[in-house]
Amino acid sequence: MKIKKHLNFTSLRKKASEIFKSVPDWRQKSKITISIHDAMMSGLACMYFQDPSLLQFQKRMQEDQHRNNLNTLFGVESIPKETQMREIIDGVDSDSFRSIFRDYYLRLQRGKHLEQFQIFKGYYYFPMDGSQFFGSKDIHCEQCLVKEHRDGSKSYSHQVLQGGIAHPDCPQVIPFMPEQIVNTDGTTKQDCEMNAAKRYLKKLHQDYPQLGLFLGGDALFSKQPIIEEALHYHMHYLFAAKPDDHKYMMECLGMYLELKHIEFADEKGRQHYYEWMNDVPLNGNKETIHVNFLRCTISGKNKKGEEEILYKNSWVTDLLISEENIKTLVKAGRCRWKNENELFNVMKNHGYCMEHNYGHGQKNMAFNFYLLTLLAFLMHQIFELTDRQYQACREKFGSKKHLWEKLRSWIDIIIFETWEKLLEFALMPKRGLLTWAQAP
Ligand SMILES: [Zn+2]
Repeated sequence: MKIKKHLNFTSLRKKASEIFKSVPDWRQKSKITISIHDAMMSGLACMYFQDPSLLQFQKRMQEDQHRNNLNTLFGVESIPKETQMREIIDGVDSDSFRSIFRDYYLRLQRGKHLEQFQIFKGYYYFPMDGSQFFGSKDIHCEQCLVKEHRDGSKSYSHQVLQGGIAHPDCPQVIPFMPEQIVNTDGTTKQDCEMNAAKRYLKKLHQDYPQLGLFLGGDALFSKQPIIEEALHYHMHYLFAAKPDDHKYMMECLGMYLELKHIEFADEKGRQHYYEWMNDVPLNGNKETIHVNFLRCTISGKNKKGEEEILYKNSWVTDLLISEENIKTLVKAGRCRWKNENELFNVMKNHGYCMEHNYGHGQKNMAFNFYLLTLLAFLMHQIFELTDRQYQACREKFGSKKHLWEKLRSWIDIIIFETWEKLLEFALMPKRGLLTWAQAP
């Protein structure tokens, strides 16, 4: 079971190693005991195996057997103590990650694994969502977003605007380098999702000039400045639009007796009603842009068996809406939550310990741990898409949780030369285990 070489674990790991080795060292030469590379790769390994105690176990293994899995799998020369690892990771410029995310994307594209993600020919749906990865009532820095409460207390947080390629019919999400929503030194004004989005689009355009993007986002994005920015970079958009935010547009739509529409029942007997109108003003301003509006209403029986509206949402887009594409647009709009579900849920609730992070640090620690987590998540997504051995393991162990529990328990006691050997071991029938373990 071979996978394309440029997408296997070793080759992805080597790319990350290469980038972390090129991070300039800011420390005094005489005081360096652990390299930046070893600290970063140890951090990545902890996130990869979702195991904060990985370092301890591998250190013990090194003492007992003079070898360890951090070395064989992740190329770590000397294992840092946790405090050392955190201290070093804190100092690394977060932008170092940018080229790794870009490189992995290019590898997937080269392997033609992304074609299934195209929503329209040549275009990838790219939902964006804000998320918090650090929060505290007292620990803070100059970059923290500050929220003042009524009782005079303050809370501090770090947030990102996270985007990635998604498709309604694909369970995977391919996350890209996110944009931090962060205060820069010296400004008193709080950064916000809007401003982060403007910076994000600019960087996406710089990093992926050839990539056809169909942006998705919640109601915050369906405002003229962001839409103009998207069009400026030749991106398409499909942003949720709340009627309350767009009173003028809704009034204009209200002047029609009815909008163009289609209606059908799905396999569960629910009634879908999709309406649209092209070329409507977004707002009442003189310089308003015109958008195409669509609305989806799904009705059916609730749990009590009563007929009711089960789902209702509306969006605006620059794509001319027709009977041919309305279903795809609605599907994409509804899959916006996929980003939230697949990505943030996995990272928050399925062992990636994004919120019980490794702390705030002095400089970049919180964001760098978020990025290491995201990178590990992306590697796993790549294997789900491309690695037959990994897919077989997923199948064998049923849940992801169960598989990773097993992998963790083995790397604590057995040294594996490669990731493939570890998976091979996982796939072995039970009676083979003994001979395997006894082999020299
Ligand atoms: Zn902070």
